Parts: sequence; C-alpha cells; structure tokens
Amino acid sequence: MATPDVTVMGAGVFGLSVAWACLQRGARVRVIEMRGIGAGASGGIVGALAPHTPENWNAKKQFQFESLLMAEGFWREVEEASGLVTGYARTGRVQAIDSERALDLATGRIEGARRHWNGEAEWQVVPVKDLRLAPESATGHLIHDTLSARIHPRMATTALAAALQAKGGEIIIGEAEPSGLVVWATGYEGLLAPFEAGQRSPGNGVKGQALAIRWDARDHPQVFADGIHFVPHEDGTLAIGSTSERDLMRQTLLMRSLTRFGCGRGEFCPQ
Ligand SMILES: Cc1cc2nc3c(=O)[nH]c(=O)nc-3n(C[C@H](O)[C@H](O)[C@H](O)COP(=O)(O)OP(=O)(O)OC[C@H]3O[C@@H](n4cnc5c(N)ncnc54)[C@H](O)[C@@H]3O)c2cc1C
Repeated sequence: MATPDVTVMGAGVFGLSVAWACLQRGARVRVIEMRGIGAGASGGIVGALAPHTPENWNAKKQFQFESLLMAEGFWREVEEASGLVTGYARTGRVQAIDSERALDLATGRIEGARRHWNGEAEWQVVPVKDLRLAPESATGHLIHDTLSARIHPRMATTALAAALQAKGGEIIIGEAEPSGLVVWATGYEGLLAPFEAGQRSPGNGVKGQALAIRWDARDHPQVFADGIHFVPHEDGTLAIGSTSERDLMRQTLLMRSLTRFGCGRGEFCPQ
C-alpha cells in the first residue's frame, strides 16, 4: 500500500472497527498490531452487549443505545464482506431480582425504557415462570430486556480483520512506524503510556475471568445473575464470566452460579 490515509495502532475490536469505518468512507487504512488479531481484551469469550439502565438518561446512554441498535447492521456488513460468522444476535437478557427494593427499581425502569428506547426494545419485569431460561430469583420475578445482544469476540475480531483485508485494508502484525492520521487503539496499555512520567495514574488493567462450556443454548437470552454473565453463543458454547477479579468472591460466585445453572435447573441440564 502507498502511504495510508489512516494508521490504526492496535487490532482489538475498537481499532478494527475504526479501521473498518474509515475504509468504508474511502480512506486507505493500515492497522499495526504488535501481537496478533484480538490479542488483548477483545479476544475474550464473554461477548455480552448489554444496555445501560433506562434512567438518569444522558448523552452517553443515548450514544450507547444508538450503538446497540446500529450493531446489527454493522456486523451484518462485516459478515457479508468477510464471508465469516461473527456470532452477533440480539437475543435479549434476563436478570434475577433478589429483593423487594430491586423489584421496585426494576419496575420503575419500565417507563424509562418506554420513553428512551423509542419502541425499539422493551424492559419488562416478568414472573419467573414465564421464561424458559430462569435463574433463581428471591422475588419470583426477572428483568427481561430485548435490547441486549451477544457477539462471539474471537469470531467477530477475526471476521472484522478478514473484512478489512477483503476490502483492501492492510494489517501488519509486528512493529512498524505509523503514518498519515494515527488512531491509538491500544487498549489499557495505551492508556498507561502517557502516564509513565509519574503523573496521576489512569487506573489498572483488569483481566477478569471467564470460562466457556459446551452447551448449545444459542437461541436463549443471556443471563445476568450474581454479577456474572452467562452468554450462549452461536458456536454452541456458553460463556460464563465476570469482568472483575478484585477478590476471591467473584470466583466463588462464578463456580456457585455454574453449579446452579449447570446442574440445578432443568432447562440447562444436559439430557
Ligand atoms: C474478562 C473480560 C470480559 C469482558 N466482557 C465484555 C463483555 O461481555 N461485553 C463488553 O462489551 N465488553 C467486555 N469486556 C470489555 C471489552 O473486552 C473491552 O472493552 C474491549 O475489548 C476493548 O477493546 P480495545 O480494542 O480497546 O482493546 P484491546 O482488545 O485490548 O486491543 C488493544 C490491542 O492493541 C495492541 N497493542 C497494544 N500496544 C500496542 C502498540 N504499541 N502497538 C501496536 N499494538 C499495540 C494489543 O496487543 C491489543 O491487541 C470484557 C473484558 C474482559 C477483560
């Protein structure tokens, strides 16, 4: 490629998406990634695309809402260009409601969703018995939102990279000097670099924890319970994960939830 118009540093989901968007607008695009496609956080296995709660609405929530709606068309185009599956599907999400206070809060959000989600999706509070896939819920009710989607992070980043190359974008794995306009999409490491001079720290990278089991529930909504995401994927796996690793509590909850979902509830038990 002659000198690119845009160089994107980092081939995570952010860098690849920026590169794809620039390419579609006619720019010559080069991506430089020092390790490999999806080598950072984007190469994980969870892939829950879940909305903010529909209250205290602000510009950030509106932006995320519009992004979630746009995701379907975005990933469809990536699949068409790459010929690969990304694992995207808007299958919704259910969440346990564990106290009367949480039930009041969840019920209050129905109206917020009606107002801010413009009929594009619903936030419902439903009795447990109305759902096929139901985590335990102390109040007998669950939140069911129809906005949440899932994606298979590794399949999606692979497909994005392939789409980019199919449309003339260039990806360099290794070290190279950027040229043209430069977008730094280097994940948490990129955030650390400007602070190395000893100024205020931007925080730390958090690895999180997740596991995938072979369990084909691809048409079911994802579940959020005990702070843990359960995401059924297109490839017949179920990802179970938390973005926190701060203490042992999450690991304990992860295993407890796995046991509960894996062995305690009819719908999810192997026959
Ligand atoms: C366990 C876990 C679960 C998660 N689950 C979800 C979820 O369910 N839903 C959700 O929306 N989000 C989730 N996230 C967050 C999400 O994964 C991240 O927000 C997202 O992947 C960040 O993408 P990124 O492209 O900014 O960074 P990354 O994916 O980290 O990409 C940065 C890339 O830059 C490269 N790089 C770094 N420095 C350089 C350099 N100098 N030159 C060239 N390349 C460089 C790295 O090798 C890497 O490939 C989760 C995160 C974790 C850790």
